[in-house]
Amino acid sequence: MTPSRREFIKFVVAGSVAAGCPIDETLFAGPESKSAAAPLVHGEHFEICHQLRDGHQFDRPDATRNVGIVIVGGGIAGLSAAYFLGAKDWLLLEKEPQFGGNALQEEFEGKIYGTGSAYASRGDQGDQLASEIGLKLPVVNMPDPTIVNKTYVPDTWKTGLDQLPYPKEVRESFKKFRDDTMKIKVREKMAELDAQPFSNFTAAYAPEVQQWWDGFGPSNWGATTEESSAFVGLANAQDLISGGDAKRAILPGGLGCITHKLVEVLQPKYKERMLDNAAVVAAVQDKDAVRVTYFHEGKLTTVSAKAVLMCTPKHITSRVVMGLPSEQKTAMRRYRYAPYPVVNVIFDKPVYNRGYDNWCPGNTFTDFIVADWTIQKNPGYKQNHNILSFYTPLRELQRSTLLDENDCKSLAARVLADFRKLLPEFNVDPIEVRIYRRGHPMFMAVPGQYTKNRLVASHPMERIFFGNSDSGGPESLTSEAVRLSKAGSEWAELLLAGKPGAKELAEKTLAVTSG
Ligand SMILES: Cc1cc2nc3c(=O)[nH]c(=O)nc-3n(C[C@H](O)[C@H](O)[C@H](O)COP(=O)(O)OP(=O)(O)OC[C@H]3O[C@@H](n4cnc5c(N)ncnc54)[C@H](O)[C@@H]3O)c2cc1C
Repeated sequence: MTPSRREFIKFVVAGSVAAGCPIDETLFAGPESKSAAAPLVHGEHFEICHQLRDGHQFDRPDATRNVGIVIVGGGIAGLSAAYFLGAKDWLLLEKEPQFGGNALQEEFEGKIYGTGSAYASRGDQGDQLASEIGLKLPVVNMPDPTIVNKTYVPDTWKTGLDQLPYPKEVRESFKKFRDDTMKIKVREKMAELDAQPFSNFTAAYAPEVQQWWDGFGPSNWGATTEESSAFVGLANAQDLISGGDAKRAILPGGLGCITHKLVEVLQPKYKERMLDNAAVVAAVQDKDAVRVTYFHEGKLTTVSAKAVLMCTPKHITSRVVMGLPSEQKTAMRRYRYAPYPVVNVIFDKPVYNRGYDNWCPGNTFTDFIVADWTIQKNPGYKQNHNILSFYTPLRELQRSTLLDENDCKSLAARVLADFRKLLPEFNVDPIEVRIYRRGHPMFMAVPGQYTKNRLVASHPMERIFFGNSDSGGPESLTSEAVRLSKAGSEWAELLLAGKPGAKELAEKTLAVTSG
C-alpha cells in the first residue's frame, strides 16, 4: 500500500475507554451534606465518569419511587436478567447510550460484524438463551488454522502439527506438549493448577509453543502464559486438542447477536423500564431496601429497590456498592482487566475466507475472524464485503494508549501492515478500518481468580446479588453471565415473595465450578 493510497482509507475510532472509570465513594457527599452548587452533569457517561474521577461531590437525593428489582448494567448479564424476570417489576439502568456491553454488534452498509465477544458453544447457556429468543446459531464447523511464516496451516492441533513451518524438532515439541497435556487430570487437580501459572506447563517446550499460547491466552482470557492460571490454560488446551472447537456456534455480530435480539424482544414490552445513559453512582443497602442513585437526563435520581442485581464488572461494582465488607471490596479490586481493542477491517471484495478463527503468532493481533463465516453457505448469500475482525488484546500498562485517537489509529495501521505480510494474497487495500476500543472489558484469568478470589468478591449481600460474567469463569464467558443472571432472577423472585432460600441459591450458584 502506498502512503497516498493509505490516506484514502477511512479510520473510525469508537468505543468507551472510560467504561472502567473509577467511581470512588469518597467523592460522594453524604445524604446530609447537600452541595451548594447543582452538580455539573451533562448526562453523558464520559462526563459523569470524569467528574467523579476529578473529585466532584454528588448528592444522593431521597428516593422518589419504589421498584421491585433494579438491574445495574445492560450487557448480556443485565439484559438476560431482565428477560428472565419478564413481567416482574424491574428497572434496568445502563450507563452507555446503547445496551450490549462487551457483546455488541455493529454494521457496515447492512453487513453485521462483532466488536468483541465472538462465539458461544453449542448447548451452553448463551446458545440456549439464543434459541429461546428465536436465534439459531449455526456451528462454525472449522477447526482453528494458524498462519505463520507465510504458511497457512489448517487444523493447527490435529493434522496441522505436521505442517507447521518450523524445524522438525519444533514440530515434535508441539506434539510432546499435546501428548503431555492430555495426560494431566486437569479437572481433578483444579485447585492445585489454578494456584500456579500456565507457563509452568509451557516453559519446557520449544519457544514457539509458548508463543502460540501467548496469543491464544490474551485473546481468550486476557493473559499470557506467565500470567494465566494453569487450570484455565490447560483446560483450554485439552479442549482444543480434543476437538472442542467443533462445538462453536455463532451468527455474524458475534455474541452481540444475542444482546441485539434481547433488546428487540424486551423493548416493545418494557421500553420505559430500560434506561440507557443512566449511570448508577451508588447502591446503599438499608434494612428493607436498597437505595440506588443514578444520573439520567442531567439529574440525579434515587429509587428504592427490594432487590438489586449488580451486572457490572467488579472494579465498578466495588465503587458503586456502599458498605461492602472490606475483604470483599479488596477481592473486587484485585480483579485485573485486559485493555482490548478490536480492529474491523472492511474490504469491498472477498480477500480471505479460508478459516473462521485464524491464529497468527508474532503479530500486532493474536487472531482474526471472518465476520460472516457461518452464513456464507446460505442459499443466495452474496459476500459483497469481506469484514475481518482482528483481536488485539493489550497489556495493562498499554491501557492509556487507548485514550489517544492517534495511538488507536497507529495500532490499526500496524494491524494492517502485519496482515499484509501474512500471505502474498493479502496485499489488498481495505475501504475502511474501524477500531472499537475498550479499557477494561475482559477480566484476566490469573492464578487464584477462579477458585479463590471470585468467591470472596461475589458473595451475595442480603439484598444485592453480584452477577456479571466476572462472578463466574473460569474465563470471561457470556454463558456464565447468562447462567448467573438466570439464578439472580430466581434469587430476586424469592426475596420479593418473602420466601426462604434466596441466600442459599445465590451461594450455590457461585460455588458451581467447571470442575
Ligand atoms: C474482545 C473480546 C472477545 C470475547 N470473546 C468471547 C467469546 O468468544 N465467547 C464468550 O463467551 N465471551 C467472550 N468474551 C467475553 C464476553 O464478552 C463477556 O464475558 C460478556 O460480554 C460480559 O457480559 P456482562 O453483561 O457480564 O458484562 P459487560 O458486558 O461488561 O456489561 C456491563 C454493563 O454495565 C454497564 N455499566 C458499567 N458501569 C455502570 C454503571 N455505573 N451504571 C450503569 N451501567 C454500568 C456497562 O456499560 C456495560 O454495558 C469476549 C470479550 C472481549 C472483550
